[in-house]
Amino acid sequence: MSKKVCILGSTGSIGCNTLEVIENLNENNYPVQIVALTTNTRIDLLALQIAKHSPESVVITDKSAYENFFINYSFPGLEILSGEEGLIEIAGRNNYELLITALVGFSGLKPTIVAINSGKDIALANKETLVVAGNLINGLIRKKNIKLIPIDSEHSAILQCLTGEKKDSVRKIILTASGGPFRNKTLNELKNISIEEALSHPNWNMGNKITIDSSTMMNKGLEVIEAKWLFETEIEKIKILIHPQSVIHSMVEFNDGSIKAQMGIPDMKIPIQYAVTYPDRVYSDLSNMDFQKFNTLTFEEPDFNKFKCLKIAFDVLKTGGTYPVVMNAANEIAVKLFLEGKISYLSIPEIIETQLNNHVSLNENDIDNIISIDTNTRKNVLDNYT
Ligand code: MG
Repeated sequence: MSKKVCILGSTGSIGCNTLEVIENLNENNYPVQIVALTTNTRIDLLALQIAKHSPESVVITDKSAYENFFINYSFPGLEILSGEEGLIEIAGRNNYELLITALVGFSGLKPTIVAINSGKDIALANKETLVVAGNLINGLIRKKNIKLIPIDSEHSAILQCLTGEKKDSVRKIILTASGGPFRNKTLNELKNISIEEALSHPNWNMGNKITIDSSTMMNKGLEVIEAKWLFETEIEKIKILIHPQSVIHSMVEFNDGSIKAQMGIPDMKIPIQYAVTYPDRVYSDLSNMDFQKFNTLTFEEPDFNKFKCLKIAFDVLKTGGTYPVVMNAANEIAVKLFLEGKISYLSIPEIIETQLNNHVSLNENDIDNIISIDTNTRKNVLDNYT
């Protein structure tokens, strides 16, 4: 019996890696069948994926890309849906077991909720879903008794360290961070960072949004919030440790002083595969880590003054309520404006702080509140900067 999966965001970085992982699994007698694939605008890549993986359905969320697809391609028998409604439609169907969500940003929230409500397990690469609605999602997971398995390399590492351990024996969760491309720059030097500099991550090859988030360390901030909800841990137990080589993907310290670390080459295919096969492990020819090449592992404390986004993320996690929704929405739009050359690099944390200062928190367990706060925050930022 093959495992049937639906991949949201199949043409992004995580999506493409996921398809490679699935090919490897199929070659190694762990059959995985792809039921649905989705893209926003990358229809040419989607067409290649359709030809190779023969899904039953695809969703093209962008309207003009959807129309262009019909002009350029013909796949007899393939169901082609459009828009966010299309994502929600396929997420709620009963023709698959595992939803792999690799969408970017807030857009992952609604289809994930629909999939959980229809009893699917979730392999989550879309950390923003937990950032904006962690408490709500955890409530639904308990009610539906499904599994939520992280794809993020740090959280996959923590899950692997926690496997077989008792929750009350955990003393500390140590999230490692590469520190990004600006680890050695001063705050003053960050003023004139260009788009190209911010997009050149030293270790990981990822999509644009997460690469900028890694450079501001907002990505690590989002991951702290993600860790809190995934592992239901007190904030005080989560520590950030800068580890520039990205070989240790995270660690857990236990109450007897023992520390477990999960290591490996920095390749997202490893945590993706673990999420797809969890709790099993399946052969892959990845890794063969060359310890001679990584013969020095170093560690530093994070600089909260320089990386204001990291400080903001810890603050909103402590305040709770709907502040994380505002932080996430303001960050998504600020990153977009930076990538369009409309704001400077250091305006990113400033924009987020302004939105947070103007926010009055509402009940964070109400999905309508979350959606309206997200929409309003995006609009406020855009109104002020365009
Ligand atoms: Mg990560």
